[in-house]
Amino acid sequence: MNDTILRTEKLKAFYILDVLGTQKIVQAVNEIDLNIRENEVYGIAGESGCGKTTLLKALVAAVEPPLRIMDGYIFYYADGRAIDMTTLDPEAKRRLRWEHISYVPQGSMSVLNPVIKVKETFRDFISSHVEGRTREEIFTIARGYIAELGLPPGILDAYPHQLSGGMRQRVTIALATLLKPRLIISDEPTTALDVVVQRGVVQLLKDIQQKLQNTIVLVTHDMGVHANIADRIGIMYAGKIVEEGTTETIFGNPLHPYTQYLINSLPRFGDKSPRQSVPGSPPSLANVPSGCPFHPRCPYALTVCMEQMPAYLYLDDQHRVACWLVGEEKYGRKGA
Ligand code: SF4
Repeated sequence: MNDTILRTEKLKAFYILDVLGTQKIVQAVNEIDLNIRENEVYGIAGESGCGKTTLLKALVAAVEPPLRIMDGYIFYYADGRAIDMTTLDPEAKRRLRWEHISYVPQGSMSVLNPVIKVKETFRDFISSHVEGRTREEIFTIARGYIAELGLPPGILDAYPHQLSGGMRQRVTIALATLLKPRLIISDEPTTALDVVVQRGVVQLLKDIQQKLQNTIVLVTHDMGVHANIADRIGIMYAGKIVEEGTTETIFGNPLHPYTQYLINSLPRFGDKSPRQSVPGSPPSLANVPSGCPFHPRCPYALTVCMEQMPAYLYLDDQHRVACWLVGEEKYGRKGA
């Protein structure tokens, strides 16, 4: 098994909001333990509003008020050292960003400046990270990397609005990986793209991961994308990881009822029967249900589910699930 590159321990990240003089706490990330390994693609799945993006912000140390780390640790491992990401000063964060850890945020327009050509964005980016290069040398680096990724050279001379959504997303990924980071954290890279374009963007991420032999943490609500690219998947619900396993296990033997709904709602080739979506709506993270937070939507909920959050049951060293019924005969499945 590969070495750990990023690990969280009982991580809690909450938004502390002041609403008309009353403090409101949004429990976006609640006691999350992750162990991300080198050279893997780790997918984080779950409905909108479950805390996925907040978790990524915490992982890249982009925590700013009203978001606060309330408890727990995030360790990034480099050169034989464990760096605690929750206590980094701004200069240390700056040094780690892009060369070690890069972040592909949701929506390319938050990265690309709409009023300058793409090559100028590359120039600004390179000159702020690589010292002593002339303007022409910088453009040569940019052109070389664009060619390496198989993207059309003309994109450098375009303004962002002249590119399609899929091409803008590819440019954003190219920019985020230009300095060959060890860890790429990507938030919904295929949102708002049609299926064919999605495939191209996912393929680009896969190619980069193969080429650089680095690690990707990828958030998307789209289970089809996870099936395509992820080695392991963490299923997130109401700020918690409720099930984690290899992609094969999550798709082949999902044990948590929420995971089962996510898988069963996927269209299947040749199967015209209605798909079963998750009943009800996700809870507000400012008012998370007691016990297992899925209980108001779960058809199997017991009294204990409403009172206590189940601990993880480890089915093997890669598969863990937090559900009272896993292992119970009633549920028709055998646990560890
Ligand atoms: Fe459903 Fe209970 Fe399992 Fe939660 S713990 S998913 S409510 S059966």
